[in-house]
Parts: sequence; C-alpha cells; structure tokens
Amino acid sequence: MRFKEGDLVEIIDKKERKFILKLKKNEKFHFHYGFIEHNQIIGKEYGIKILTSKGFSIFVFPLKKSSYILHMKRGAQIIYPKDIGQILIHGDIHRGLKIFEAGGGSGAISIYILSILGKSGKLVTYEIRDDFLNILKENVERFFGEIPKNFILRKRDIYNEGLHEDDKNFDRVLLDLPEPWNALKNVDKGLKKGGIIISYNPTIQQIIKFKIELDKFGNYFFEGMYEIFERRWKIEELATRPVDGMIAHTGFIVVARKI
Ligand code: SAH
Repeated sequence: MRFKEGDLVEIIDKKERKFILKLKKNEKFHFHYGFIEHNQIIGKEYGIKILTSKGFSIFVFPLKKSSYILHMKRGAQIIYPKDIGQILIHGDIHRGLKIFEAGGGSGAISIYILSILGKSGKLVTYEIRDDFLNILKENVERFFGEIPKNFILRKRDIYNEGLHEDDKNFDRVLLDLPEPWNALKNVDKGLKKGGIIISYNPTIQQIIKFKIELDKFGNYFFEGMYEIFERRWKIEELATRPVDGMIAHTGFIVVARKI
C-alpha cells in the first residue's frame, strides 16, 4: 500500500513524539526538527524513514487509531486504548452488530466500534452536551473523512428522555456515564436477550451501585468486573525493566449478559 493525498499519517520523531498529518500535495509541516514536505510522503510505500529540512530522520506510518484518539480534541475524558481493547473483547464486538452507546464523550470508543462494525452494523450514540457532541462529530468525521452512514448520533439524555422510538433491538449496550444505574430502565428495553451490557466507571462506588441496581432487574447474568493494567518496559542490553511512568488508574469494566 502507498500513501495518497487525503490519508491521515503519523510521524514519529527520534524522541518518539507523534504528530498527525492529513496529506495534501505541496503542503509543508513545520516542527522543531525543521519541516517536511507532504510530497516526500505521497506516493511512497507505507512505513518510511525520511529526512527533515534540518537533516533529522523521522518515521512515517499509516495512522493507528490508538495514536489518533490520544491526540484528537477532547471534550470529555476518553476511554484509554488499554481499556478499549478489553471492552471490545468482553463485549465480543464484531462486524454486523447493532450497538447502543451513551455518553459519547469525545468519541474514542465510537471510532473503534465504527471501524469494526462494517456497513452491515450500526452504532447509535447519545450525548447530552452540545459542545461534546460537536467535538465527537468532528473527531469521527476527521478520522473517516465523513460521518459513516451507519452512525446515528443524537443529543439526548438517556436518564430522562430514554431511547428514541427508532432505537431498539440492540445486540450490545455500552455505558460510559457518571450514573449508569439511572440509564438501566431505559437501555434494558432496547437490549435483545442474549445481548451484552458493559459499563465503564472510574470509582468502585459507581460499580457497586450499578451492580446492585442491575441485580434488581433479575434478568442479567453478571459476568464480571475487570481492571486492566498495561505496563510498558524499556529494553536495553544492560537495563531491561519497566519504564518509570505508568497510567495507574483509569476505570473498571463491568460485563453482564441479558437473560
Ligand atoms: N466513552 C467516551 C467518553 C464518555 S465521557 C469516549 O471514549 O470518548 C461521559 C459522557 O457522558 C460525557 O460526555 C457526558 O456529557 C455524557 N453524559 C452524561 N450524562 C449523560 C446522559 N444522561 N445522557 C447522555 N450522555 C450523558
């Protein structure tokens, strides 16, 4: 595969800093190592090393979603890639599913889900705040080059307004809300039997309250609650060990299946 105009690419400098570019003929990208011309990238094979105007070498790769979501504009806090990975596994997310999500936030997990679902799947996302909704829309649009046709984005309060009349028969429900138990009555109506509900929250009080309220429904099999640690190591011949810094806490993942 070769880079072409309009592609999003990531540039990695020798200090492993990343920059994201949308390729456009005859444009230049200026940074602390001088500049590079987009024409140095367009038409080349994926994965190249090029020299900046000041003679530094940098790498250019096709954009990974994990780089994109960490660098994109944020309204609400995003779900980190390490947690998104496990949510996709525990939620058994695959092509063709119909998925409901609230709140949309900055769209980090929406972008992953949309890229997996394919044209036969559908994602319906609710977000209560106008400003976050706009950021989400911008982030999704920039990544895919357009708003995918199977992405329905609504400004809606899942606690008080409930599901829109068109939104039903979901295979999965994903909640990333401050008070997910307040959404349960509404999302339960939209989730198919055998479907999976996942809730993501940073504090244990939220998790416990959610589990207690979920148990009251009597029609959910509680599969588990998970916390994900990802520790990066540096590898040098005489000093191979974990790096100093680590993201210590993000959120807990709760998984249940509808009976
Ligand atoms: N999962 C998102 C982050 C969501 S942050 C991501 O990966 O980027 C939680 C979001 O829930 C916030 O944007 C907040 O505005 C929204 N929210 C809070 N209460 C809500 C409600 N009642 N209905 C819909 N969205 C709500």
